[in-house]
Amino acid sequence: MRSRLGDVRANASKRGVDAFLVTDIKNIRYLSGFTGSSACIIVAENAGIFLTDSRYTEVAREEARGFTVKEYSKALNLNAAVAAEVKSRGITTLGFEANHLPYETFAKLKKTLGHVRLKPLTGMVSDIRARKDAEEITLIRKSAGLLDRGFEAACAMLRSGAIEKEVAWGVESFLRRTGADAFAFEPIIASGPRGALPHGKASDKKIKKGELVVVDMGVLLNGYNSDETRTYCIGRAGLKQKKIFDAVLTAQMRAIEKIRPGAAAKDVDLAARGCIEKAGFGKHFGHGTGHGVGLDVHEAPIIGPYSKDILEDGMVVTIEPGVYIHGFGGVRIEDMVHVVRGGAEIITKTPRGLICL
Ligand code: ZN
Ligand code: ZN
Repeated sequence: MRSRLGDVRANASKRGVDAFLVTDIKNIRYLSGFTGSSACIIVAENAGIFLTDSRYTEVAREEARGFTVKEYSKALNLNAAVAAEVKSRGITTLGFEANHLPYETFAKLKKTLGHVRLKPLTGMVSDIRARKDAEEITLIRKSAGLLDRGFEAACAMLRSGAIEKEVAWGVESFLRRTGADAFAFEPIIASGPRGALPHGKASDKKIKKGELVVVDMGVLLNGYNSDETRTYCIGRAGLKQKKIFDAVLTAQMRAIEKIRPGAAAKDVDLAARGCIEKAGFGKHFGHGTGHGVGLDVHEAPIIGPYSKDILEDGMVVTIEPGVYIHGFGGVRIEDMVHVVRGGAEIITKTPRGLICL
């Protein structure tokens, strides 16, 4: 079986560091199982040291199996605790998360550690996290399954005369009642011209007949996020609305067809982008085609035109092309896809055709 800590150690030795300091709380959870909100980990060659303060010592001892849990005094501060461990273990090169260590902490550590070399690293844990194991896939499926029910609830609430915020609140309370721990982000409910804002969170706007409504939501369940978008039409859809919807749906299907282990993420993006360009909406699709989903709602890999990522077996990504026309509205369709041997498996199950309510 893959050992997460073993994989980090292998990365550390490849990158030429004796030990690696983990400060991102999601990475800490991934490596140790710790569900609290304040800690850090030092992954050394033959030890995993877990540092936390008195609020979390007990939780850490229970959850962070296989780690040496040490309590540091909040008054003493984290840098001093890290420095003491590094010095006592004779570590000469310490890698740290370039994206997750505040500059102030870095500066203090540098001062306290004197001759120890501090090396900024990226991707040390996120590259490992990108490939999900069977247990994670089960949790992601549960999160996505719950979210699918949220879309059914949204469908029942969307109608002419409803206020975007009221619909958002209705769906949020439904999802909390049915088990969501939290939301991956504030629900996006963008009707009519507001649909042209890719991240138009629910407003006081009244939804009107004939408008398209973009609904983008995500829940957090057992630590794992889900993320899905559907676009509905209130009443009968017009020609232009249908044309845009078809272009986006075709783009999404073409991108999903490209997915398989070994495929370049940028080629998946290109498949979607090419389709939208061909339909004449190229300049109205400004964002990337998708992103990884897991402990974070946006994580590796990136599915975009400049991505260097290669898809691998076990990754979970969104495919979410969209078209946004200023003053008119927008369409986005987003699903979560599991990269498996032989291709792709769609995790989110809400029907994808244009639903006119
Ligand atoms: Zn989304
Ligand atoms: Zn997304």
